[in-house]
Amino acid sequence: MLYYEDPYLRETDAIIMEIKGNEILLDKTIFYPGGGGQPFDTGTIENDFFKTVILETRKEDGKIWHRVEKNNFRVGEKVRIKIDWDRRYYFMKAHTGEHILYRSLENVSRVNFEKMVLDHESTLFVSGEISLDDISHAEDIANSIIRMNIPVKIHYENIENVTNTRIKRERIREENVRIVEIENFDRSACAGIHVKQTGEIGKIIVTRIKKGKYMEIKFIVSEKAEKFQDEIFKKARKVYSEFSLNPENFDKIIEIKKDYENVKENYYNLTLKYFKFNSVEINGIKVNYSIDDPGDFSAKERIAHGIIENHGNMVIIGNITRSIVEVLVSEDLLKIMEILKNFINERNLKGGGKNNFLMINGDVGEIFKEILEKIKTISPSTL
Ligand SMILES: [Zn+2]
Repeated sequence: MLYYEDPYLRETDAIIMEIKGNEILLDKTIFYPGGGGQPFDTGTIENDFFKTVILETRKEDGKIWHRVEKNNFRVGEKVRIKIDWDRRYYFMKAHTGEHILYRSLENVSRVNFEKMVLDHESTLFVSGEISLDDISHAEDIANSIIRMNIPVKIHYENIENVTNTRIKRERIREENVRIVEIENFDRSACAGIHVKQTGEIGKIIVTRIKKGKYMEIKFIVSEKAEKFQDEIFKKARKVYSEFSLNPENFDKIIEIKKDYENVKENYYNLTLKYFKFNSVEINGIKVNYSIDDPGDFSAKERIAHGIIENHGNMVIIGNITRSIVEVLVSEDLLKIMEILKNFINERNLKGGGKNNFLMINGDVGEIFKEILEKIKTISPSTL
């Protein structure tokens, strides 16, 4: 396969050997069919009269099929194929970057490689615990390997003799294993497409980590990484200026967050303890309400849930900053909710809810007034 012989070949001539519907088999190809987490190549195919897009490349029984958007080709024809090079080269850099990043992580903590998925934001799945500090440390190692511009060498070894190499033996069927070696740093059995020198990657950064079944380490490389870092720095500068922090003490913001959480919790507890809804009785219904009075909103919601456990109660909570009104009713008043839902539709307001809860977006004062007017028109016998 030409993609192994020369991964930098962006276009080539080829002869059509076989056609199955919209899929074309060529005598040779530069299109990688995907595998090992690296996506297949896309691109174009053309002759003197016709040009179309190669949407997908896949391998089946050792044959590589190119699925085209439109097929006007015939067997035996000579064609020219071109890879979507920006996309493929990014994946080559991200893939090689992944080898380096994984090895760097292994150097700083106990992790196990699970799988990798390359995309515009790629993901490395590992098992084991890693802290954010470990990630930063690994990132530094990876970027120094990139800066050292080490050759990435590919050769084959007999599976019996392979040692000191990252390898999933159960997945390998061939006797000769393709070894990807970053000199004095990492050896890995891999069938993907890589760059020739680590320097081509430019830069690798971890954008975020997600904890799921495995640790998901999201990363980007190259100019994309440079741009991302630049944008994040500008955002960070906005934040530390807003908080009047020196850039070198920017992490103080974590303490500010803790302070804020404490204040918030106190406010919640004080509201729970001291807050009282206003109340008015309309047609035998006790309407409890608060239109933007001081107090924590979620604490008010919790009090409201307590109130509607008693029959004949309705609670209306308004929040002017968020432009929402919440209505809660006790079980015996569920029919009122139907009436209020109609009111939302009539007035073309946004909102909704289930059973005994309704949230309406809009002008808090006006919605409150109109809800009261609606309730006044309800005769108690219809409930
Ligand atoms: Zn690889």
